[in-house]
Amino acid sequence: MHTKIAWAMLLGVGVGWVLQEFTIATYSETLSLKAGHEVTLSVLDSTSSRATWLAPFVMVATLFMSLLKMLIVPLVLSSIVTGVAGIAGGKEFGRLGAKTLLYYMLTSLFAIMTGLFLVNLTQPGIGVTLPLVVPENFAPGEGTSFADILLRMVPQNIFEALSSNGNLLQVIVFALMLGFFIGKVAEPHAQRMKDLFQSFFAVMMALASSVLKLIPFGVFALVVKVVGETGFSAFKPLLFYMGMVAVALLFHAVVVLPLLLKFVAGISPWAWFRAVSPALMTAFSTSSSSITLPVTLEAVERRGGVSNKHSSFVLPLGATVNMDGTALYECVGVIFLCQYYASTGDFDLTLPKQLFIVLTALLASVGAAGIPSAGLIMMTAILTALGLPIEGAMLLLAIDRPLDMLRTTVNVWSDSCCAAIIGKSEGDRILSPQAA
Ligand code: ASP
Repeated sequence: MHTKIAWAMLLGVGVGWVLQEFTIATYSETLSLKAGHEVTLSVLDSTSSRATWLAPFVMVATLFMSLLKMLIVPLVLSSIVTGVAGIAGGKEFGRLGAKTLLYYMLTSLFAIMTGLFLVNLTQPGIGVTLPLVVPENFAPGEGTSFADILLRMVPQNIFEALSSNGNLLQVIVFALMLGFFIGKVAEPHAQRMKDLFQSFFAVMMALASSVLKLIPFGVFALVVKVVGETGFSAFKPLLFYMGMVAVALLFHAVVVLPLLLKFVAGISPWAWFRAVSPALMTAFSTSSSSITLPVTLEAVERRGGVSNKHSSFVLPLGATVNMDGTALYECVGVIFLCQYYASTGDFDLTLPKQLFIVLTALLASVGAAGIPSAGLIMMTAILTALGLPIEGAMLLLAIDRPLDMLRTTVNVWSDSCCAAIIGKSEGDRILSPQAA
């Protein structure tokens, strides 16, 4: 499966690049952000030849994403309820919760530290010319404060939360409570509810399995769309910065997390990588941990051998709160901008400020939703807290897609490693795949 997906990606890059090179697509528009601060906007004209060529790919990509999105809420709800209701009493629940949170926090902090070290070492923000190209639809600043995030976790109306794709954290909070209290009520109610959710979950997983077969096609179309729409030229001015981010993310993904897998749980990192690779490739091409969640659950349980009881607790929660790649990027991105402002003389990047950034990067990664560019939107909260203009984040938006693809892959990789480590410590037979 992963060879097929890898080929689909390569082919997608090729086709996307050809379309990008040989079709005419964009016109430029100048947008005034505020007095004396203008940006050039590159717009994909819907009547252009590129838009016409891209249309079928966009359609397949959208269809694929819709299929995955369709599965998120029912799968998360049934998976968490089944898993949590199956955990005997409050004690096991507490132990699992404590281990999981410890993993989330430690790995995110590790990631931030790696980023902090590299961004200070290489100083990519000093003397850089920021490209003044901002794609449309950027609306940061609304409800991104840390108090807002906390308040948003508890749903006022569960049906409203279930019906909106952005409120996954609310669905998770409700599902955790529902599962917990199913385990507490008297029979026959507890068993009836468990049976109901278990059967529902089995059907959803069967559906997810068949959608999984479409991954190569979906991934191909998505990559053509992304490369065809943006191309590569926008990235040139910030190539050094992007390379630095990529190296930091890579270090976390291929050194830190594999070491944890190997020495904490005794699991072969390579074998685990192979088991979850469909999820990683989906994460890479969709830039969304939430949309990837159905694939992650499938891969970790069926191919990786983690029991539903554990994966259903770790993965949905991880997809929304454990984002190592995002945490790293919050830190690197903000410090990069701070370096830029410091080199133009407007800002002093002191040590306490760096520590403040580490802490807020962690919080921002918890608060970021598992959707494309969510990390960048959250970055505006840190910039505001530092008293810096949020335009910096807008400028980074122009180059965000490839970085988002990488950090989302790291986010999902970390979630899957967490599931493996926790599963192993609780007695699951890791890498002995379960039958359907
Ligand atoms: N796209 C990332 C994710 O879904 C979040 C981010 O923008 O960093 O995991």
